[in-house]
Amino acid sequence: MAFAPNQPLVVTDVDLAGPTHGEVLIEIKASGICHTDQVAMSGEFPIFPPEKFPFIPGHEGAGIVVDVGPGVTRVAVGDHVVPLYAPHCGTCGECLSGKGHYCEIETPTEFGTVMTDGTTRFTLDGNPVYHALFCSTFANFIVTPEAAVAKIRNDVPFDKVCYVGCGVTTGVGAVLNEAKVEPGATVAVFGLGGIGFNVIQGARIAGAGRIIGIDINPRRESLARRYGMTDFIAATETAVEAVRDLTGGGADYCFEAVGKSSVMLQAIRAAHPARGHVVLIGAAAADDFLTIHPSELVLGPTIHGTNFGSAVGPRDVPKYVDWYAEGRLFIDEMITHTLPLEQINKGFDLMRTGESIRSVVIF
Ligand code: NAD
Ligand code: ZN
Repeated sequence: MAFAPNQPLVVTDVDLAGPTHGEVLIEIKASGICHTDQVAMSGEFPIFPPEKFPFIPGHEGAGIVVDVGPGVTRVAVGDHVVPLYAPHCGTCGECLSGKGHYCEIETPTEFGTVMTDGTTRFTLDGNPVYHALFCSTFANFIVTPEAAVAKIRNDVPFDKVCYVGCGVTTGVGAVLNEAKVEPGATVAVFGLGGIGFNVIQGARIAGAGRIIGIDINPRRESLARRYGMTDFIAATETAVEAVRDLTGGGADYCFEAVGKSSVMLQAIRAAHPARGHVVLIGAAAADDFLTIHPSELVLGPTIHGTNFGSAVGPRDVPKYVDWYAEGRLFIDEMITHTLPLEQINKGFDLMRTGESIRSVVIF
């Protein structure tokens, strides 16, 4: 549990009320540690201002349904599931628009920090403990609306497919759903971490011609090449120029998967100035603003934001799990560390030092 901004997590017991109408009780079996958890725990993430503490972070989990409230139709007890931090009720105007990752239950639930009735199911000494983005997968049991649950096949390991709950879907979806990269296109990926590797996999699946990876950590090169990267640039001030040289004037698609405005600017400048697409995935700190002169955009590049790979969770998460089972998507090599819950803070240290790609907590 995160009691206050910028503090290590505390492993403690809390009370959990059972599922009410339309809610599901899930036993979480495994949860990945994502960079966004760290941003949320800093108190600098707009959805988790200091008044949303204490809360239970974690949004990259997998588990088993152990109970359902009245009215639940999509999942049943015993189903293997992945909680969705971008829910999809399937019936609201947003979901029906086809851009299904901004469901209307986001607003009344304050982005999944409370349930649809405005209260939390977690409490400590009778006081609310906030949920994180409908997930809170660092808890071994959670309650969440069924709109925030994707049913998956039951023959895949939890400690691998939990990664589809964020990293895989965010990266692969950014390429296939948001950018819609076409065969032969040139792609540049800034940041080869848990997200960036999945952008590379997505670009490979899309049939991109040249896939350029940029990172300050040279240890990221070999795995990125196995996933489909064709060229590596050690991130420096000259990265923009290097991408332009390799692509004949700018990449068709640039992805930022670091979370710094300075790198976002590099991604914008490395894209083709007229027909380039830039997809900003990284979550920047509260005081880190993107400043750009409009003249740099005058030729008409397209800048996209994306959340959860712009995915329709109940459709895309089971699909990506299937692709993993079929050997089309790789996950195993990216799970570099598994830890018991008691060592969760070590998982964050491994991420900060760049030693891990993904650490997974196993319950
Ligand atoms: P990570 O820490 O695993 O990876 C970040 C990578 O960036 C590391 O390999 C690091 O060496 C590299 N890096 C750092 N500074 C760099 C620089 N100046 N130039 C190039 N590379 C640099 O993080 P992650 O889990 O992959 O997450 C990446 C970003 O995506 C974070 O900001 C995270 O919050 C965000 N994120 C967004 C979504 C979304 O839905 N939009 C979902 C998940 C994560
Ligand atoms: Zn994440």
